[in-house]
Amino acid sequence: MNQLQMVDLKGQYQRLKTQIDAAMQAVVDSTAFINGPQVKTFAGNLSKYLQVNHVIPCANGTDALQIALMALDLPAGGEVIVPAFNYVATAEVIALLGLKPVFVDVLPDTFCIDPAKARLAVTEKTMAIMPVHLFGQCAPMEEIMDLAIAQELFVIEDNAQAIGAQYVDAEGGTSFAGTIGHIGTTSFFPSKNLGCMGDGGAIFTQDIDLASTLQQIANHGQHKKYHYSRVGVNSRLDTLQAALLDVKLTQLDDFIYRRQKAAGVYDAYFAEVAQIKIPALATYSSHVFHQYTLQVPADQREALKSHLQEKGIPSMVYYPAPLHLHEAYGYLGYKAGDFPVSEELCGKVISLPMHTELTEEQQQYIAEAVVSFFQS
Ligand SMILES: *Cc1c(COP(=O)(O)O)cnc(C)c1O
Repeated sequence: MNQLQMVDLKGQYQRLKTQIDAAMQAVVDSTAFINGPQVKTFAGNLSKYLQVNHVIPCANGTDALQIALMALDLPAGGEVIVPAFNYVATAEVIALLGLKPVFVDVLPDTFCIDPAKARLAVTEKTMAIMPVHLFGQCAPMEEIMDLAIAQELFVIEDNAQAIGAQYVDAEGGTSFAGTIGHIGTTSFFPSKNLGCMGDGGAIFTQDIDLASTLQQIANHGQHKKYHYSRVGVNSRLDTLQAALLDVKLTQLDDFIYRRQKAAGVYDAYFAEVAQIKIPALATYSSHVFHQYTLQVPADQREALKSHLQEKGIPSMVYYPAPLHLHEAYGYLGYKAGDFPVSEELCGKVISLPMHTELTEEQQQYIAEAVVSFFQS
């Protein structure tokens, strides 16, 4: 059995090597490393896949969030609601732009922002809300959009972890994660569900005016060559990454299928173990399993981690502490106890290897190691 990894980038590359190498070699031969035609082609194909009018590629998922927020032209000190249980990037860009991150708690089963808590956090200064589709599943977007409409807030969806996930509305209609709010963002970091061989990101919108603003900001605020209408940034997806991503996009449905299948195998092993809570499936979303995250008793998690490590099985804690308790955000004045669900989850979550190349043999080995820990 191959060495176990959280994400098997090498195995996936080897499986798709012929197509990927050809696409990348074509870029090398052309030497059009920046803004080569593959960037536009990939943006067009991604926009078709996601059924979104505009896709603006950029340099990474954090830039995507920053550019999205810059495009809203919010007044300094404006408040932006963001979940406390999350990767740091979403809150970071709010703070960097002179806005105020307002943390809210998450739902205990699906880990995504709790819309009822978001409602309570709205003040006269609230300008926007940034739901995060954490671990591969959509946040409850209808409730968030209802709140946003009632309070006249912008919505930026951080879709770095759930590309290809589908939101299911009350009428049974579906929309892709990242295409429901005013703007959506994603990351092509290598370990993401649609990952490149370096850094990459993209921004989505249905709105043509926002698309033009986003495009300008990503390109130094330029509206015409060497004419700058606003202060922008330099954030590009390079051509090699775009060419590779265009190949991988054709595989995205298969990647999702492989992850969902692997999740099903894990679920079957863990369903009967009393101490384990398997990932909950929201009725309003498909799950693309960026992470397969269990909840286990907080006082047993470290021992479980060591038990797995001894057997050569990696595991990760996403995330060990909620954002409001990090030193960097101490100036906001939050304290322990403010977001009990997020704080409790940080003690209980553990993510197992999850990727497109997992074999049943590997999964059996991993799952049996987890089960034996609780049953010995
Ligand atoms: C990965 C990630 C980002 C940042 O993406 P980068 O490409 O690493 O900048 C932002 N938000 C979430 C939720 C992420 O998982």
